[in-house]
Amino acid sequence: MTDWPALADLVDGDLRPAETGMALNQRYAGTRPAAVLAVAGAADVARAVAWARSAAVPLTVRGGGHSYAGYGSSSGLVLDLGGLAGVRFDRATGLVSVGGGTSMQALYTALRPHGVTFPLGNSDTVGIGGLTLGGGVTTISRAHGLTCDALVSTEVVLADGTTVTASAREHPDLFWACRGGGGGNFGVNTSFTFRTRAAPDGSTCLVLWSWPHAVEVLATMQEIMRTAPDGFSARIGIARSGAEEGVVSVVGHHLGPATELRELLAPAFAVARPDRADVADRSFWDAATYLHHSSVGGAFAVRTRCTPDAIDDAGLATLVRAVEQWPGSGNPDGAGAALFAWGGAINRVPVADTAFPHRAARFLLSLDTSWAAADPEAVVRANLEWLHALYAAAGEFAPDGAYVNFTDPDLEDWRRAYYGPNAERLAAVKRRYDPDRFFTFPQAV
Ligand SMILES: Cc1cc2nc3c(=O)[nH]c(=O)nc-3n(C[C@H](O)[C@H](O)[C@H](O)COP(=O)(O)OP(=O)(O)OC[C@H]3O[C@@H](n4cnc5c(N)ncnc54)[C@H](O)[C@@H]3O)c2cc1C
Repeated sequence: MTDWPALADLVDGDLRPAETGMALNQRYAGTRPAAVLAVAGAADVARAVAWARSAAVPLTVRGGGHSYAGYGSSSGLVLDLGGLAGVRFDRATGLVSVGGGTSMQALYTALRPHGVTFPLGNSDTVGIGGLTLGGGVTTISRAHGLTCDALVSTEVVLADGTTVTASAREHPDLFWACRGGGGGNFGVNTSFTFRTRAAPDGSTCLVLWSWPHAVEVLATMQEIMRTAPDGFSARIGIARSGAEEGVVSVVGHHLGPATELRELLAPAFAVARPDRADVADRSFWDAATYLHHSSVGGAFAVRTRCTPDAIDDAGLATLVRAVEQWPGSGNPDGAGAALFAWGGAINRVPVADTAFPHRAARFLLSLDTSWAAADPEAVVRANLEWLHALYAAAGEFAPDGAYVNFTDPDLEDWRRAYYGPNAERLAAVKRRYDPDRFFTFPQAV
C-alpha cells in the first residue's frame, strides 16, 4: 500500500486525490493520476522526488499541461508545478528568472511593464517548462532565436532528489540537454533564467483566400519566405471544418511597419484577391495578443515533418487534395496542414550547440486533425487513419525530422526524428543524470 499520508506530511503543497482532466488534449481525458501534488515551492519538488523514488511510485511533471501527447499526466503521482509561477526581472543584468510552472500569460503580464521580452509561445496557458525544454519556436524566433536559445541557466531537481544549477559553466551537458531535449526527461526544472531584449514593435497580418487558390498561394508564400527578412515570420495554412470548403490562411508577424509587411505580401496578394486581409501596425504586446492561438479544445492529433527546402507544387497539391478528402468530425477545429516558417536566427546556431537539432529546416510542416467527445469511435479511427496516410505521403517531400514540442505519440522512429544527430549525446546525458530511468514516459530519452 502506498503511504500517501507520509507524502502529505512531508510537503507544504496540497496533495489531492485522483482527478482527471489534467491534459489539454481530450484524447487523453481518461488518464487518471493516482494523486496530484500542487507543489508550494522548489523544496516540495525535491521532497516529492525523493519520496516517490523510495516508495517506487512513478512520477510525472505537469507544467502547463499542453503536451499534445498528454505527457504532463500519468497514472502515477503528478507534480503540478502551477505553484512555481514567480517572474523576477533584474534590470541591471536584463535577466529574468521564471518559476518552472509559469504560464505564458503570467510571463507576458510580468514583462510588459519592463518593455522586455524573449521568444515566448502564442497561447496564454502553455507552460514555460515544456516550451523551453523542447526548444520553443515563436513568431520572433526567425529574428531572435528559440526560447531555449535565450536560456542562461536552470535549476533542476534530479532523480536522486538533489538540486543542481545547469548553465554553460555548471553541468554543461545537462544545460545542453535542457535546450531542446524535451520536457520530463532529465529532472524537474524548478526555475529558468533567460536573457531578455527590448520588446520589438511591428505589424501583424491575417489573410484569407478561397480554396481554389490554395496551391498557388502556398507556393508564393514559400517563395516570399525564401528572401524575407528575419523579422518576418508566418504560419501558412490550409484547413477545413465541418462540411465547409477549405480556407487558405497566412498569419504573420513582422518586426517592421505594416507598409513593409504589405510589400512583402504583395506577390501573394497578386495571386488572387484575398477574402480578408487584416494588415496592421501593432505594439509587441498587442501583436502577442492578436497572434494568440485559440482552439475550441476537444481531442486532437498532430504530426510534423521538417523540410530544408520549399515544397514543390506536386507536394502542395498532395496536401490540398488530402485536406479535401478529410473524413470530417464534430470538432469545429477541423483538420489541416500548416507550414511554419523557420530559419533565420534559428538556423544560425550550430546543430551541436544545443539539443534542438532542426537548425537547417526552412519550414515545419504540421498536419492535424481533431474530433469531438461525442464522435463515434469510427469517426476517431477515420480521422487518425487520414492523418497517418497524409503523414506517410508527406515523407516524399518533407523527409526530415519532427518537432518534439508538437509531440507525436504515433511516431515510430521518434529518437531520430526529434533529435537527429543529437540523439546519442542525449542518451548519454540521460544515463549520467537519471541512470535508473526514474523519469520515464512512452517517448522518454
Ligand atoms: C495552444 C497551444 C499553443 C502552442 N504554441 C506553441 C508555440 O508558439 N511555440 C512552440 O514551440 N510550441 C507551442 N506549443 C507546443 C508546446 O510548446 C508544447 O506542447 C509544450 O511541451 C507544452 O508545455 P507545457 O508545460 O504547457 O505542457 P506539459 O504537458 O505540462 O509538459 C510537456 C512536457 O514537458 C514536461 N515538463 C513541463 N514542465 C516541466 C518542467 N518545469 N521541468 C521538467 N519537465 C517539464 C512534462 O513532464 C511533459 O513531458 C503550443 C501548444 C498548444 C496546445
